[in-house]
Amino acid sequence: MHADNLIHARWIIPVEPPNRVLEHHAIAIEQGRITALLPSREAREQISASRVIELPGHALIPGLINAHTHTPMSLFRGMADDIPLMEWLEKHIWPAEQRWISPEFVADGSRLAMAEMIRSGTTCFNDMYFFPDITGKVALETGMRAVLGMILIDFPSAWASDADGYLERALALHDTFRNESTVSAIFAPHAPYSVSDEPLLRVRTLANELDLPIHMHVHETADEIGQSRKQYGMRPLTRLRQLGLTGPNLIAVHMTQLQDDEIEAYAASGGHVVHCPESNLKLASGFCPVARLLA
Ligand SMILES: [Zn+2]
Repeated sequence: MHADNLIHARWIIPVEPPNRVLEHHAIAIEQGRITALLPSREAREQISASRVIELPGHALIPGLINAHTHTPMSLFRGMADDIPLMEWLEKHIWPAEQRWISPEFVADGSRLAMAEMIRSGTTCFNDMYFFPDITGKVALETGMRAVLGMILIDFPSAWASDADGYLERALALHDTFRNESTVSAIFAPHAPYSVSDEPLLRVRTLANELDLPIHMHVHETADEIGQSRKQYGMRPLTRLRQLGLTGPNLIAVHMTQLQDDEIEAYAASGGHVVHCPESNLKLASGFCPVARLLA
């Protein structure tokens, strides 16, 4: 049997099935696909490979997945530390984005973030940012798997000026990448506090028609809950449920503020949660109750 690459590793951890560790095993790769996983001794006898890689002190695992990124923001790293989310966004990040965001900025920031992800073993990411078409192009060049967020936010940016513009660009982005096997596009309304009802209803309709997930920051801080109660008379998750956005297609990011009844309702809806411990600690947003959610 022939393989382009044959990788021998001290340990191979396939992740599925769980708790399985294979010692002194090898994987054979032909035309980008794994064609065999077998003991190293057998591989040396049975497989002639163009390239053999020996990893005598390594554990080989599948690529890691980062379920929530804003890749171009790698260029803002270190800006405005130790302040709460809304002050961080309103006084620092959003003004910096108004000043700096461009296709060139997004290309450079995405490329840097992807280099860092590859170096740490991450091969797939779920992104949300302006000019996702550029991030998608860089992902195709690097070979990383990427899910591009079709961003929607109530204020104008260099990417689009209003809801019509954001949604028009969203659908064009979806068309651009619809035939790619490694890059795709899904809806990414920024957050309940930054997107009003009318555009959210349009996202719900389009997401249902195209059967696409919705990637959104939800219940990130206690401040977000308070603001929603004042503005809408209800907590953000209740509002999203009333707007028809909760369900198996919702990817809710952060979720640090959750009551027991919300966890129960969200579990019943089949929605997903992304845990961002580092971001939540940086902005002192709170703790996602992961154990309660898993239970
Ligand atoms: Zn985020």
